[in-house]
Amino acid sequence: DEAIRVSDMAHQMGVKAQSVIKVLLGLGVMATINQSLDFDTAGLVASEFGYEVEKVGFSEDAYIAPREEDSPETMKSRPPVVTIMGHVDHGKTSLLDAIRESNITGGEAGGITQHIGAYHVPTPRGEVVFLDTPGHEAFTAMRARGAQVTDIVVLVVAADDGVMDQTREAVNHSRAAGVPIVVAVNKMDKEGADPDRVKRELADLGLLPEDWGGETIYGHVSAKEHTGLDELLEMIILQAEVLELKANPDKPARGHIVEARLDKGRGAVATVLIQEGTLRQGDPFVCGLFSGRVRAMFNDKGEKVDAAGPSIPVEVQGFEGVPEAGDEFVGVEDDKVARRIAEARQLKQREKELAKESKITLETFLAKK
Ligand code: GDP
Ligand code: MG
Repeated sequence: DEAIRVSDMAHQMGVKAQSVIKVLLGLGVMATINQSLDFDTAGLVASEFGYEVEKVGFSEDAYIAPREEDSPETMKSRPPVVTIMGHVDHGKTSLLDAIRESNITGGEAGGITQHIGAYHVPTPRGEVVFLDTPGHEAFTAMRARGAQVTDIVVLVVAADDGVMDQTREAVNHSRAAGVPIVVAVNKMDKEGADPDRVKRELADLGLLPEDWGGETIYGHVSAKEHTGLDELLEMIILQAEVLELKANPDKPARGHIVEARLDKGRGAVATVLIQEGTLRQGDPFVCGLFSGRVRAMFNDKGEKVDAAGPSIPVEVQGFEGVPEAGDEFVGVEDDKVARRIAEARQLKQREKELAKESKITLETFLAKK
């Protein structure tokens, strides 16, 4: 599992890579300068040059600052990050669209809204960030990967349909994640709308409404007629205030990938939700298996930005490869460190895959016998 590249080894000994290759040839090993040598081979070569090989573990911890060492006075308020969940057809997409549409200011109307997987909505009492990936699939997929990106879940329940299977699932997932729920009773414009029934059914699941002596905030909305949206936003902000969401913006950025894709013209691009620190143009970073450097950043309106702080989603260009949704994004000090960490991660990944392959071969072999 330990390995060193011919070129790196030559560099460390202060000799030419060709000399190392020659020694390797003498040992019956054909090698190129990019080849990795195992510990024993490296040892043999090193002794030819009067060196010894020592094993040193590579630890990312030396390069990536540990989390949660922020002192209270460095912490500043940040906007809440909200995910919309609920049963199919209860109006998740319509609600997101309605909120977005009614918050596009005059100058932007008719302009291009960029799809980046998340967007922020200004309100008189502060901003709210919505993840544009409705449904608990995205939420649980992220959680399964250890990515906690949501502060508040807005649970959409159609007033004419009430609590359904996926409503219950959404409640369970939010609970498991410890994320508070704000209920949006949707389709209030419909004939058979019965918000009290929704409240009763959700109260049975432990979401007792505030006006019934409980703690859950309920909003009545119609995504179709755009009613109750400002009130809902206000309720989200109220809930956020209770949570006292804070982060230190004055350090290298950390966040998670919300969406990623390969763009024909621009290469690998991804939406990063910054969770702490600030990401700036030119910053080197590591994300999943890849390193990179911020070549350009855009907000949800498609405008170029130079910096993004906590809770802000930005589309970033400059990834060496396409990361996966849920991958952690970490700003680091310099490009070399970024590449070193990425290389180590890729090596580990390859070893894991190799281990898997050999296992499959063995099992297949045994099964055939
Ligand atoms: P999703 O599956 O939860 O994303 O639900 P959609 O947003 O796709 O909505 C499902 C259907 O309900 C669509 O036909 C919408 O037009 C309709 N719908 C959504 N919100 C409302 C509403 O407030 N009132 C009415 N009457 N219909 C709505
Ligand atoms: Mg939908």
